[in-house]
Amino acid sequence: ANTDYTQAANRDKQRAALTACTAQLGKKWPLIINGKKITDRAYIPSVNPAKPSQIIGSWARATVADAESAVAASVAAFPKWRSTPIDDRARILERAADLMESRRLELNSLLILEAGKPWIEADGDISEAIDFCRFYAVEMRKLAKPVVTQSVPGERCVQTWTPRGVGVAIAPWNFPLAILTGLVVAPLVAGNCVIMKPAEQTSVIGAVLMDLLVESGVPAGVLHFVPGFGEDVGAHLVGHPQVDFVAFTGSRAVGCKIWETAGKTQPGQQTLKKVVCEMGGKNALVIDNDADLDEAIPAALYSAFGFSGQKCSALSRLIVLDEVYDHFIERFVSACGSYPIGDPAQPGTILGPVIDADAQKKILGIIEQGKKEAKLAFQGTAPAEGYFVPATVFVNVKPEHSIAREEIFGPVVAVLRAKNLDEAFALVNGTDYALTGGLFSRSPKALERAQNEMLVGNLYLNRACTGAIVERHPFGGFKMSGGGTKAGGKGYLENFLFPRSVAENVMRRG
Ligand code: NAD
Repeated sequence: ANTDYTQAANRDKQRAALTACTAQLGKKWPLIINGKKITDRAYIPSVNPAKPSQIIGSWARATVADAESAVAASVAAFPKWRSTPIDDRARILERAADLMESRRLELNSLLILEAGKPWIEADGDISEAIDFCRFYAVEMRKLAKPVVTQSVPGERCVQTWTPRGVGVAIAPWNFPLAILTGLVVAPLVAGNCVIMKPAEQTSVIGAVLMDLLVESGVPAGVLHFVPGFGEDVGAHLVGHPQVDFVAFTGSRAVGCKIWETAGKTQPGQQTLKKVVCEMGGKNALVIDNDADLDEAIPAALYSAFGFSGQKCSALSRLIVLDEVYDHFIERFVSACGSYPIGDPAQPGTILGPVIDADAQKKILGIIEQGKKEAKLAFQGTAPAEGYFVPATVFVNVKPEHSIAREEIFGPVVAVLRAKNLDEAFALVNGTDYALTGGLFSRSPKALERAQNEMLVGNLYLNRACTGAIVERHPFGGFKMSGGGTKAGGKGYLENFLFPRSVAENVMRRG
């Protein structure tokens, strides 16, 4: 459950934790390979996106040789780990969840400082990480029971699961705790050894997670902390012949490279690599003529601007039906004006900074391009210090405009007009992506149609159209948004296991 920050007592505790965390910044975080801390590497500083002069900590940059050592140690540790009782492995995840729960405020502070997450969002990130640990522990215990496939006299046939081997978890910065945790603990509990490669922007949070998992009981050799740059360490691990699977979440461009690199077999490679790839989106919310705008407008605002639109599930396109278009735009734009932008460390802030200077430059460039394509209906103001981008709304956007096609990953909304639901659903599906989408409508027929015709991985009907709760909303898309896997859903662990069928002539049992 998330913390209720409307309670003053909770806010006071959080403020105190933030102050304590700020006082301890600047630590140097080593690599951890085969249980050993490796300190003699170049260190990369990680900064607060809201106050770039503030260094959160520095992390040791792993080399390709370090990646090699981590693979070799994993190969050596795998036989023992795969034979470790499932219950012992599951208990490690449960301990990790308990530790995260007990350190919630400290983790929250770090997420605010390193990722620029507003309090509420940071809290949601931690809740999701905790849920992943508990859910995958439960799911693995279920998979431990062999399934009897069919019985004929004298023969016993069962299906069992066996871990794949050595894998790499490559994570994005936008859910620096939850997604990294999910990508690491799912294959771990399934009996694999894992090399953890967090995003460059949030490697301090990755280092803290590594320490927490070690404290929870993950043995040396089974999990390695190898922060570094995607193009060298990341790409090397993905192509490594002794890496059996890749668990990746990130952009479409990198995801496509990963599919390609992982697909090439090489000498010394014993398995075909499994790739679990979750990528970007160009998510659309449809506003029907009869939609309840009192509900739709706050939902659209939060989905578009919460955490500065830096969620893969964030609303990026608003598709509004003809009759309600002008009225909706008037209300939506007027609500944008009061959206709380500022320091994410302040309670109440929803729109904080974007992650770094590159992201800020890229998004501001897209906004300039948008001004040439469509009509700017709203642009807010942003603080001068920090990597901020103001909330921005374009109207009269056409499907061929780049702001209607490319993932922006910032607080920018493109509004498109549709004559009817046929046209609206065609617009929803008319992109390369298929991650999230939503519809606000009072018509049962329209809601029914949306279920059949809005082709996205996660569909939200008359409700907040972003985010996902583990187990309740298994998350993931298809087309260029990913390979159809569902994080936090039933069956997700099977990605990290091989199914085996065993047939035994039981008449021969002594
Ligand atoms: P990114 O693709 O730039 O980086 C993700 C990770 O890949 C980083 O750890 C990076 O170091 C690594 N990497 C980069 N190049 C690599 C290479 N050649 N080989 C191996 N690894 C490499 O993404 P990002 O900017 O960190 O995250 C934002 C993106 O992630 C957005 O597109 C967002 O939509 C997507 N995302 C998707 C989901 C989902 O569940 N579908 C969830 C969160 C974020």
